[in-house]
Amino acid sequence: MNRNKNITILGSTGSIGQSALEVVRHVEGLNVFAISGRSNLSKLVEQALEFKPRYLVAADESMAENFTFPDLGETEVLVGEAQLDFIASLPEVDIVLAAIVGVAGLPSAWAAVESGKTVALANKEALVVAGHLMTDSANRSGATILPVDSEHSAVFQALKAGSPEEINRIVLTASGGPFRDWDVNLMESVTVEQALAHPTWDMGQKISIDSATMMNKSLEVIEAKWLFGVAASQIEVVVHPQSIVHSLVEFVDGSTVAQMSPPDMMLPIQYAFTYPDRVAGPCPKLDLGQSLSLDFYPPDTAKFPALELGFEVAKFGGSTGAVLNAVNEEAVAAFLNQKIKFTDITTVCRNILDQHNFEPFPTMPQLIAADQWARQEISKWMNA
Ligand code: NAD
Ligand code: MG
Repeated sequence: MNRNKNITILGSTGSIGQSALEVVRHVEGLNVFAISGRSNLSKLVEQALEFKPRYLVAADESMAENFTFPDLGETEVLVGEAQLDFIASLPEVDIVLAAIVGVAGLPSAWAAVESGKTVALANKEALVVAGHLMTDSANRSGATILPVDSEHSAVFQALKAGSPEEINRIVLTASGGPFRDWDVNLMESVTVEQALAHPTWDMGQKISIDSATMMNKSLEVIEAKWLFGVAASQIEVVVHPQSIVHSLVEFVDGSTVAQMSPPDMMLPIQYAFTYPDRVAGPCPKLDLGQSLSLDFYPPDTAKFPALELGFEVAKFGGSTGAVLNAVNEEAVAAFLNQKIKFTDITTVCRNILDQHNFEPFPTMPQLIAADQWARQEISKWMNA
């Protein structure tokens, strides 16, 4: 890389945030300029002491009030959600890693895009909810949105083999999650512990549940539509239990290009940080000296009805993404608190999506209103 890059890490205490810091430890030329977290403030302080960023943001005011920050030297401590937008848009910042979970990550990701940054986007919910606004804004501001989601990073890398007009279809791989081989009749009785035990990836709680319902793949279909400008009908999902092939692009001539690496989020994070360069780093490499089998088969849509929701939202767009995302966030939280059954997550998403008042070209306030309406609907349903 030609020069040092200043990075703001939104959500540095999370699974993606911590992998990003591990990349920074190993790759020269990356400088942590700002970090943020919500609840684990001791971890955030530990990170500040190691990386000496210019700013540390504690996003939640009440949590920050109940915490005593030690002297952090040159690191300035800022408190409150609005400070996330501040560290995402400062002129000194080259790259913003958007790694907050859920729609809570949208305002700061949006601020980064509006400020024309290179945005390494892990927070897929921002595109699910506001894909049209995020991409329009990037076109206006000159921001570059680089995928961090492993499937989308794979597609982005495979796309180097052809031009956008030469894409026939994009095939997103899915591990199938912990219930890939379960009997459909057992799905109702899934426990929180079983749902959190992902076979190939170690991730935050929300995305782990999303992977278990396969809602994650639905969100990724929507994400792929916005990142690569393809139609929903050009996207397919295939189950690939080994999580080695991270996705594939089929070009018009029938050539299919795939990206392979061991399942580790450091690679897509590092690629977004060093893009367009590739440098040596901490990522594990494939061992082809051992026998390696790669299986691919179609997903079981009867067992995972969440899958069709993403295709629907990718097709209709408008306010549907905001509604699907909001109901899913609330349903996942309710399942984690043992208030609803595992299978209820998808059922309630389907029901509320079907009831909503469709708005084809929503503004940001309209998206926020759709999000709030959806959260009220699921709360009414849970209290009924
Ligand atoms: P996580 O739960 O481990 O971490 C979330 C981070 O966001 C933490 O730093 C937390 O403090 C912060 N945060 C949570 N709520 C917040 C709020 N209301 N305001 C401000 N900050 C808040 O989540 P994760 O697994 O690292 O996932 C982060 C994002 O990356 C998600 O959108 C997820 O879908 C995406 N992603 C994750 C993985 C993975 O392997 N973990 C892979 C692909 C994509
Ligand atoms: Mg993914």
